[in-house]
Amino acid sequence: MRRAFPGNAAAPGMALGRVRLERPARFSVDSSPLPDTEVDAEIARLEKAFAAAHADLAELRRKLHGTLAREVGEFIDAHAQLLNDPDLREGLRAMIRKGHYRAEAALKAQRDRLVAVFDAMDDPYLRSRGEDVGHVIARVQSALARQASNEEKKLATRVGEILVTDSIAPGELAHLASHGILAVVSESGSPYSHSAILARSMHLPMLVNVTGVLDDLRDGDLALVDGVRGEVVVHPAAQDLARFRTWQRDALREGQRLARLAGAETRTRDGHPLRIFANAERPDDVELARNLGAAGVGLYRTESLFLSSAGLPNEDEQFNAYRDAMFGAGGQPVTIRTLDLGADKADSAGLVEASEPNPALGVRGVRLSLRQPDVFVTQLRAILRASCYGPLRILVPMITDAAQLVEVRRLLNECARDLRTEGHEIPDQFELGAMIEVPAAAINVRALLDVADFLAIGSNDLTQYVLAVDRNNDQLGKLYQPAHPAVLHLLAWIIGHARHARKPVCLCGEIAGDPAFAPLLVALGLEDFSMSPDRILAQRDALAHCDRAALRALAPRLLRANDHSEVAALLQDIATAA
Ligand code: PEP
Ligand code: MG
Repeated sequence: MRRAFPGNAAAPGMALGRVRLERPARFSVDSSPLPDTEVDAEIARLEKAFAAAHADLAELRRKLHGTLAREVGEFIDAHAQLLNDPDLREGLRAMIRKGHYRAEAALKAQRDRLVAVFDAMDDPYLRSRGEDVGHVIARVQSALARQASNEEKKLATRVGEILVTDSIAPGELAHLASHGILAVVSESGSPYSHSAILARSMHLPMLVNVTGVLDDLRDGDLALVDGVRGEVVVHPAAQDLARFRTWQRDALREGQRLARLAGAETRTRDGHPLRIFANAERPDDVELARNLGAAGVGLYRTESLFLSSAGLPNEDEQFNAYRDAMFGAGGQPVTIRTLDLGADKADSAGLVEASEPNPALGVRGVRLSLRQPDVFVTQLRAILRASCYGPLRILVPMITDAAQLVEVRRLLNECARDLRTEGHEIPDQFELGAMIEVPAAAINVRALLDVADFLAIGSNDLTQYVLAVDRNNDQLGKLYQPAHPAVLHLLAWIIGHARHARKPVCLCGEIAGDPAFAPLLVALGLEDFSMSPDRILAQRDALAHCDRAALRALAPRLLRANDHSEVAALLQDIATAA
């Protein structure tokens, strides 16, 4: 019989498929005491499961590409760190040795204990870390279950299915999506979680906060996930299927319409030319962006190079990656950002001090690079060597003071001189730019314009630092408002000063590729946008609907707004009038 379960649409779209339940308690736990003679074998079994869980994570990391690698990588690294926690491992071994627990029972007891510890914490962020502990232990439990049943990895069978679960970790979500899962329905979770952000970027419909599904649905039930209405319908009726078909037809038509925009010019409705650049982190992204008609790469993130290799990548490894990016761009400019590790960006290379009390305000970005000159010089040399393959620009993250950029330029000049002496061909000129993502840099942007050749606005960090809202804290999702008037003032200020100084300014935070922000950014005078390649067509379309003259005239009123909802209302008025 048809039943509908309401929830929150965390990622839009619709999907029809068979239910696959993923119950939290799907692992059987034998709580009978372990005989003395089996203790050693049980510990070995547990160790093997940890090793398998580790291998799963490494495999997951290897398979992720492009923006996904960056978005998910940090979670995978955090989970790998938890797996390696010596106290956790020793505690489990002691439970087996002294308490005669079986491995499954020890894991369950530890999980319950740790989750209770996290649940009792006052800090909502720390509290949410309990979820990570649950995911990590579930991974070991799953590895144990695989050993026991010698069962094939279930992932391969999930093609065409709808995952119904209590909660899902970002790494798992990325993996399942690449194995053909159609949609996710989760009993808990929030639209601001990283899994939700990821689902949106992978175009995977996702509903969260759907109560009762784990109890009321059965494996194999036919279900329609409706991210438009925000509900999941089991045993859908004829009218549900008709709604789905209409949606499919519309989505297909929309996809085809957008596909025609590949390679098209980017212009506002009133004919003002704009430029769309790509955010990339692998040579593949660069090529995709070129095929979609991007004007070049506005932000090439180099962190994944450092996170994916076991140690630090050497000069030649980095050079190869940067040179490939230059080839992929086919003569268009590529903006390579120097290393931005630290804060939320996990660091498997061990460069960042683990014990920093306040990492977001700590040694990250250029601060880290200038403290590790050997590592930095290796990167600068690799970048300079790649610069003879096309127009390359060098971008420096987390700049607060002009002096930092001056120091980077001095190092660059030194590197260029050494490389020429060694016989490398290095161009005479290279463009050096500053990321504007710290309020001090934004407010004092004139000083930076004196020493920078171009600017890139990092609105993701700028928003978090202006509003003092951690960009990764799901609990604060509602407070994280890039359209907050305080942020808009800074954006307008930066763009205005760059234009006055006749230096290029590009915005490369998430909002640059968000169609909902297109009118706002046009109103503030932005002309260069840099975004992940999968956003390019939809954003080109959104920009083509903007009347630049009308929006520019609205800018003073937008900047006088009291809060972000007033900003939204003003933009709505102009959209309705158009
Ligand atoms: C930003 O902060 O907006 C940005 C583009 O950099 P990242 O997201 O890599 O910190
Ligand atoms: Mg940033």
